[in-house]
Amino acid sequence: MAKPFQLPPSLSELRNYVDGEFVSTGRCFPDISPLHGGLLAQVHEADAALVDRAVLAARRALDGPWGRAGVDERARWLHRVADVIERCFDEFVAAEVADTGRPLAQARTLDVYRGVANLRTFADLGKVAHGDCYETRLASGQELMNYTVRKPLGVVASICPWNLPLLSMTWKAGPALICGNTMVVKPSEETPASATLLAAAFHEAGVPPGVFNLVHGFGPGSAGEAMTRHPGVDAVTFTGESRTGAAIMKAVADGVKEISFELGGKNAAVVFADADFDAAVEGVVRSSFSNSGQVCLCSERVYVERPIFDRFVAALKARTEALKIGWPDDEGVFMGSLISHEHRDKVLSYYALAVQEGATVVSGGGVPTFGDERDAGAFVQPTIWTGLADDARCIREEVFGPVCHIAPFDTEDEVIRRVNDSAYGLAGCVWTSNLSRAHRVSRRFQVGIVWVNTWFSRDLRTPFGGSKLSGIGREGGRYSLDFYSETTNICLAL
Ligand code: NAD
Repeated sequence: MAKPFQLPPSLSELRNYVDGEFVSTGRCFPDISPLHGGLLAQVHEADAALVDRAVLAARRALDGPWGRAGVDERARWLHRVADVIERCFDEFVAAEVADTGRPLAQARTLDVYRGVANLRTFADLGKVAHGDCYETRLASGQELMNYTVRKPLGVVASICPWNLPLLSMTWKAGPALICGNTMVVKPSEETPASATLLAAAFHEAGVPPGVFNLVHGFGPGSAGEAMTRHPGVDAVTFTGESRTGAAIMKAVADGVKEISFELGGKNAAVVFADADFDAAVEGVVRSSFSNSGQVCLCSERVYVERPIFDRFVAALKARTEALKIGWPDDEGVFMGSLISHEHRDKVLSYYALAVQEGATVVSGGGVPTFGDERDAGAFVQPTIWTGLADDARCIREEVFGPVCHIAPFDTEDEVIRRVNDSAYGLAGCVWTSNLSRAHRVSRRFQVGIVWVNTWFSRDLRTPFGGSKLSGIGREGGRYSLDFYSETTNICLAL
């Protein structure tokens, strides 16, 4: 039976939200279902003139009730937005699922859950943000009091990816807004639905016009580029591909705008022979195949200590082949579709390239067949490779699909060298029962986050970000509050 996962009629046209009003532009692009290839909605693309209106509205809002509000009042507004999301929880879940093809359970327990948690966490953290104070005595005997005050940066442009749409938008909006900034937000062209619902939630919560503006569109020559080039934008927070980050960096250079970049990854998981074997197999299944491998933190490179290598590969293959792929609401489904048919072409091109580069395909490597409407969806099989050289493109480039390569290693020094031999530096996993080794190895990874005997466990107060091609800066907890604030030092002669 067909399970179309359509958007409701109220979302058949997705509009921009500028200065407190939903705005049509008449120039539309289609929002296509990755599950069945059908039309979900028409999306009204913002041009440079509408982006300009949004930025001007955001600037005006800095001087309005929002700009004059204290942190308690801003926190109340953010909590009210979170209340609306909670009340419309199922609508948000349905929008995320329709746009992304992911399992319903994931949209509930990760995407929409975190959407609420991001807003509430930063609303509360903002209230306890504080400055520094130093008492100074100069050689002359003059006494000084130095203290800092935090001020908003101004208008923040937030450009978001498609892989975790609501999570990414709220991860930026929570801290940016609690710090008193106003925003122009662009979701990915692939995932406009939950973004439109989020704008409606801001509207319903009574957040003053111009504080949260939403523009739909693409990157180059469209809304994304217009945002980064706009002189009225004070800071750009971007999550997406590393090469897009490089293009944005060039675009903001003339305006010397503040930037925070969360970019791509080619993350490694290292499994030592002393690890809890079953937990490590389960952990690697999750870290390689969750969200169909479309999480920047996924492990596409897995290094396993030689004594357990063959057993580990066999266990991972068995566990992977038992994973259920299918409709988002199928009982026990683990993987839905990829984000789009275009992205599937990219992932499949890596499946072919791996074979050309000499990989042994241990599992998957193609497209599943269902014999029903799902055959029109952007599904791929979770895939395990062995046998690639360390300099193979499939080892060096981010695939962003459900794939991992497993290689044996013999010593700690060797595996650390191979882990760090990457242009990226986002995240890593270590599986071991040796406490000293866990500390020793983790601190030598050239990445922003290391998980030991777990993966993707997050406390929103901790720093998040990457090194090398994986990003610039850290967000999370006080790191976000620091990025979204301008600090002024005031020095008083006593
Ligand atoms: P993408 O770079 O293609 O697009 C991201 C956003 O940038 C979209 O909204 C797009 O319209 C916009 N954009 C594209 N070109 C632009 C330009 N020149 N100027 C302004 N805006 C532009 O990324 P994607 O395919 O949506 O997302 C997948 C990528 O995101 C992967 O590389 C993944 O690793 C990365 N990612 C990183 C993190 C992290 O925290 N480090 C989190 C999620 C995703």
